[in-house]
Amino acid sequence: MSGGVKVTLLAGGVGGAKLAEGFAGISGVDLTIIGNVGDDEEFHGLWVSPDIDTLTYTLAGMIDRNQGWGVADEGHRALGTLRSLGQDTWMTLGDKDLGLHIYRTMRRQRGDRPSVIAHDVARAFGVTAGIVLPTDDTLQTRVRTASGWCSFQEYFVRDGCGPEVMGLDYAGAEAAVATPEAITALEEAEIIVVAPSNPLVSIAPILAVPGVAQAFDEAQAPKIAVSPIIAGAALKGPAADMLRSLGGRADVVGVAQHYGALIDCLLIDGTDAPQKEEAAATGQDVIVTDIVMRNAAEKRRLARTVMDLAVRAA
Ligand code: GDP
Ligand code: CA
Repeated sequence: MSGGVKVTLLAGGVGGAKLAEGFAGISGVDLTIIGNVGDDEEFHGLWVSPDIDTLTYTLAGMIDRNQGWGVADEGHRALGTLRSLGQDTWMTLGDKDLGLHIYRTMRRQRGDRPSVIAHDVARAFGVTAGIVLPTDDTLQTRVRTASGWCSFQEYFVRDGCGPEVMGLDYAGAEAAVATPEAITALEEAEIIVVAPSNPLVSIAPILAVPGVAQAFDEAQAPKIAVSPIIAGAALKGPAADMLRSLGGRADVVGVAQHYGALIDCLLIDGTDAPQKEEAAATGQDVIVTDIVMRNAAEKRRLARTVMDLAVRAA
């Protein structure tokens, strides 16, 4: 790790990886990312960790830029074999990607800590930022719809986020032990950033680990969140619908209320400026700025904005 301001970013998959790339692309930052393992699930006997892999592939420059997830220039011949063998193949796992899942599963079976595996994979692919797991224990987001409980990937990928979400559970969270890496990243952080990831299924599972929640709460660094909701909608994914169906508001006020006293400052988009005062009523500083990241320059600009704010807040 280079010198520089220690930034610890809590991030899910695609939205989180965008801001992670922004921080990784500016100088003077020593970046550690605490990722989400709530999306993890076993497929075809292999342990798949979609959000962690999205972070890794993005920072390694291997990501499929068109979809924002998966490996670029991917093939799906292994999945074809599984399909002809009668297996469910709604979870799109590419050939290159499957190589990583084989490696992860092999090392887990040997008894290696999932955090160490994630670290080794990131290093092997040339990622310089730290990617740490909140826990080495199994923690899986479960989703309740009218048909009952299902896994997160069944809801997200198989059902295409179609059913209304009536409840969420972070199975295993209560008993999950925080990794020393996650605790150190929060204790030593000079700035803590909550990425514009889905608050309920990307950020909440990280903070559902009691030791992580405690370290987050006790951390001295300014805590700055970026809203994933712009003009009452998520740029992509079910965040707005979920906030609404679980009793919150699907706008920046709902995001501010969701994070409440956890954070010091919330960044919202210019289009939401009319709701600034109402969002600030939750007690956070609400800053209006451009939070849409369409390209590398916009990712870096948002990362710099967060850095400047934290310096002023300190
Ligand atoms: P997932 O795990 O792949 O679903 O991704 P995340 O949970 O990390 O991020 C999903 C969220 O990112 C969605 O709610 C989007 O609204 C949000 N998002 C995506 N792109 C942007 C962006 O450029 N700016 C902001 N502010 N939010 C974004
Ligand atoms: Ca995710």
